[in-house]
Amino acid sequence: MSGRGGGRGWYYKQKYGGGASRNRQQQEQQGGQYGNQADEGYRGGSGNRQPEAAAAAGWDGDDDDVPSQAGYQAGSRLLGDAQQLFATLNRLDGKGYKAYRDIQGAWQFSGFQLIVDYCQGDPYAAPSRLRVQMPATVAALPPELWSSKLRRIALGDWLARKLAAEANRASAAAAGQAQGWHGAKGGDVTVDLPGQHVLERTAVLVSTAGDVEARFTVGLPAQGRSIMGPWAGQILTQHLARAVQAALMYPALDGASIWRHITTVEDTEVLRAALPGLGLVGFVGDGAILPRKSGASDLPMPPSAGLVPFSSPASLAVEVALPHRGRVRGMGIKQGITLIAGGGFHGKSTLLQALEAGVYNKVPDDGRELVVMLPDAVKVSAEDGRRVEAVDISNFINNLPGGSSTVAFRSDDASGSTSQAANIQEALELGASVLLMDEDTCATNFMMRDARMAALVAPAKEPITPFSSRIALLRAAGISTVLVMGGSGDYFEHADTVIVMDNYLPSDQTQAAHAIAAQHAATMAAVTEAAPAAAAAVGQPVRGGVKVTPRVPQRVYAGGQNDYRGVKTHVRGLHHIQYGDQDIQLSAAEQLVDKSQTRAVADALKWLQAQLQRQQQQQQGGKTLLQWLNELDAAIEQQGLDVLAPQLLGNLARPRRFEIAAAINRIRTLQMTQQQQQQQQQQPQPGG
Ligand code: ADP
Ligand code: MG
Repeated sequence: MSGRGGGRGWYYKQKYGGGASRNRQQQEQQGGQYGNQADEGYRGGSGNRQPEAAAAAGWDGDDDDVPSQAGYQAGSRLLGDAQQLFATLNRLDGKGYKAYRDIQGAWQFSGFQLIVDYCQGDPYAAPSRLRVQMPATVAALPPELWSSKLRRIALGDWLARKLAAEANRASAAAAGQAQGWHGAKGGDVTVDLPGQHVLERTAVLVSTAGDVEARFTVGLPAQGRSIMGPWAGQILTQHLARAVQAALMYPALDGASIWRHITTVEDTEVLRAALPGLGLVGFVGDGAILPRKSGASDLPMPPSAGLVPFSSPASLAVEVALPHRGRVRGMGIKQGITLIAGGGFHGKSTLLQALEAGVYNKVPDDGRELVVMLPDAVKVSAEDGRRVEAVDISNFINNLPGGSSTVAFRSDDASGSTSQAANIQEALELGASVLLMDEDTCATNFMMRDARMAALVAPAKEPITPFSSRIALLRAAGISTVLVMGGSGDYFEHADTVIVMDNYLPSDQTQAAHAIAAQHAATMAAVTEAAPAAAAAVGQPVRGGVKVTPRVPQRVYAGGQNDYRGVKTHVRGLHHIQYGDQDIQLSAAEQLVDKSQTRAVADALKWLQAQLQRQQQQQQGGKTLLQWLNELDAAIEQQGLDVLAPQLLGNLARPRRFEIAAAINRIRTLQMTQQQQQQQQQQPQPGG
């Protein structure tokens, strides 16, 4: 390819000499508001018209604080067709990088519109954000593929994977062309690629009318800091257009694969919805592949002689009829207390991890398509060092040395046991109905105390009532526990079901465990008695006899700034958000499974901060954390994930309220008050 450097005449000198507003005028003359439904959604942050401020340095592709640029409204105006886009890019060749702004707006291709929402101001900044809108008549997706919300989510997920693959191809083709251009940078077309879970996400959206919107980023190419116009033109009008045609138009797609994707997700969802009616909190299908490829990969362990598919013991087997697969059999995990015991390395944690992830739907061939948990099952663990803000942990901990309150416990550096108690209470506060725990990540002194230790340390000197002395109370309050415990028999007498893992296969050892517990009843009684007078602390029952005190957020972030959008979030990893000067570590939020969820969690922090500031201005009464998160959930349910970000990002996935709360609860600038006693009657809403 040649010809770069031509055609830069007086026209552009005039144009750029004339100031940035000329382009806008031109766009407005061409006029015609682009009919963009997503455009009408979120307006909460629309007052924010920040000037270009994308920090060039250190961007790794995950900033979500890219400003919604000044030209955003103009960005929905039709500027021309694909040929005109190509010509425009050719004319921009060799100009300063910011002149790319000229292409912000909508371009009519054959069959779809390409919308350039935001052009990066610098080749090293966050890449430019683009969308493709394709009407249902062109996409030609059969209506049964988008006839329900769940199907639209599964279809969007499939299309996102396909488009990501095609975009990779486009990027590779563009990179091939770039060879020989010294110092060329950019050219990558990037679609947010989903992992093993099928989540509601913003990469590809299918509307209730079957229209398709795909969102992606493009690193607009540069040589040094100059525009590479013809190359950009080829990427957008040729490589990208080909990728869109190959990924979003049904006649070109593998219909059987899409249908399998949708029916797999639908069966999993039906299976999960069937749990309460069967008296179950979870289910593990026969034949399921629970272990993963490695600690660093969520892919299934590849077939080998050592791989043991799951198989339910007869006594725990349940059959469920699914709409597409028909009858399936597997191990039901009953409401109440389930203990998973067994020798080390026999697959206990692997089973629990599969259950943790069972709150989400899976792709076909994941191996865990028939492993489900109730959507409000929450993994809890010990997490020493975490911040705790005004959490009532008095179900478990009382009489701390130094006299600090456990009714409204605060700590900047919680211990193993107090952090675990806080994690449990925070889950219950948001309505968790199942707690998942693994001895590998529990605090030993929180989980158990034997008779010998009770004899050595007087009960009055021990602030902790072990979980074993509270688990029955939780059950009575309707809260189930699934607990991995291979190192102690303290839970035998409480367990409704005892599963022993042996060479990766479960057996039902409930009766044996109960018989052993009966034999050792005397010791156990001594231990239970040794618990401090905690019954008195279980004062104001909120859920059965379990004390759960709702909290009212007052402040999320203290940055001294009024405009919450001025405070940046940066998602550094699946379990790491930086919010202004606050580092939020989420490694304990093990049910966060996709970095795109983490990005949405980061946006939710800013959403809540904005709501609190608005509320303060209006002097309203405080809503509880649960009420706020239910409100956000309802807004997402109605308007989609765009309620979290006005920039129409393509890299968000839906988190549960538990994971949003996990981030909120760990911010060190968080301020909470506890709700007044008389207002405490409201019950958490069931559901995910
Ligand atoms: P435990 O918690 O009982 O100590 P883990 O669940 O950590 O054991 O499993 C130990 C190892 O066995 C892990 O490396 C895991 O990948 C592997 N593993 C677990 N389940 C299976 C299975 N069904 N087939 C083959 N390997 C498995
Ligand atoms: Mg383990």
